[in-house]
Amino acid sequence: MIEILDDWCKGCEICVKRCPVEALEISEIMNKKGVRVPRLKEDNKCHQCRLCELLCPDFAITVTKEEKEEEKECKLIIGGVCAD
Ligand code: SF4
Ligand code: SF4
Repeated sequence: MIEILDDWCKGCEICVKRCPVEALEISEIMNKKGVRVPRLKEDNKCHQCRLCELLCPDFAITVTKEEKEEEKECKLIIGGVCAD
């Protein structure tokens, strides 16, 4: 998941230009500074590499890695098998 703090964005487009899978685009949404902010494209290709988060000079992006089903911690094991 990607969270963008729209009003922190200055529209430098580093995130859009550096995303290795071109997952981001400049949207029509304008922030308080009058800057059009980035959003994930509809065909979400983001693989949560966090490069955009690390490169954003204004700390406007936070990437939260989504756990895959098999990576989730099992909370109930019955007979050696995960049952939750
Ligand atoms: S986390 Fe990686 S793949 Fe996803 S939008 Fe940012 S740079 Fe692109
Ligand atoms: S890198 Fe940060 S400041 Fe630049 S366009 Fe992306 S979100 Fe906005």
